[in-house]
Amino acid sequence: SHAKESGRNRCRFYTDDMDNSGRIEMENALRKAVDRGELILHYQPKVDLATGKMVGMEALVRWEHPTKGQIPPYVFIPLAEEIGMIGPIGEWVLREACRQNKQWQDQGLPALCVAVNLSVSQFQYGNIVEQVKAALADTGLDAEWLELEITESIIIQDTEKVISTLRDLQMMGIRIAIDDFGTGYSSLSYLKKLPIDSLKIDRSFVKDITGELEEEETIAKAVISLAQSLKLRVVAEGVETEAQLHFLMCQNCDMMQGYYFSRPLPVEEFAQLLASGRDL
Ligand code: C2E
Ligand code: CA
Ligand code: CA
Ligand code: CA
Repeated sequence: SHAKESGRNRCRFYTDDMDNSGRIEMENALRKAVDRGELILHYQPKVDLATGKMVGMEALVRWEHPTKGQIPPYVFIPLAEEIGMIGPIGEWVLREACRQNKQWQDQGLPALCVAVNLSVSQFQYGNIVEQVKAALADTGLDAEWLELEITESIIIQDTEKVISTLRDLQMMGIRIAIDDFGTGYSSLSYLKKLPIDSLKIDRSFVKDITGELEEEETIAKAVISLAQSLKLRVVAEGVETEAQLHFLMCQNCDMMQGYYFSRPLPVEEFAQLLASGRDL
């Protein structure tokens, strides 16, 4: 009947409306998150494989939502991209990572390079070179202590422009890493042309290594040896087990990151770890 029909429609509308209003609420909250100081950075150590020393750190953003608690980046970064907020959020992350790193150095803690993740659209639309220059100038951090992590998807952009932008950044003394290497589209000939310093082997390849089946190690081996033959430093991410560590040592991987050594830590905990000077 008509009544039933409209009831059902209303019901469906109501459900959609809830999803929508929940989403819009989340979007509006995200638009204000930077200004309200709800974003924070956690830091995860990068460990030198040969010495076990901490040689760098990656800044990873978290959103402390006033009512929903901590929201992980895989939830809100894609949303930020969609609603055009990745620019301001990315700029905040860049500045905050530089500011924090400089502050730790001023406090006399061992100097480390901080790696900041850049989304492709930040690279595409913002003037990233100017943004980085300003962040360094305003915080007083020297360029040698900043690294930028970009994904392979950068390569499908205008290659000449990408190369010249990366070169400008490198000329300033900033290091460039390709993140999640092996997962995206990447033409090997482009890879050779890109001015980059290191490749981060994606966690999915490291995860396959159990120490039991040689076949599982095939891809990880190939990706590492490709990076080495391109004369790039190799960083393995997502190292969780002794077996993975052992395998990566045998492959002469340069650096590692993962829960085996440390999870990403809040500022205070990271500072304590850094101050302790202990090997990981
Ligand atoms: P990513 O850049 O590949 O960062 C590594 C992710 O792996 C982090 O997740 C980290 O916490 C996690 N991880 C590290 N070691 C291990 C391990 O041993 N095991 C497992 N299972 N996971 C490990 P997180 O912090 O949730 O970040 C997820 C992604 O969100 C990042 O992946 C990056 O793509 C993005 N992201 C994080 N912060 C930012 C940012 O400031 N800007 C942009 N554009 N993206 C960011
Ligand atoms: Ca990264
Ligand atoms: Ca990664
Ligand atoms: Ca990843």
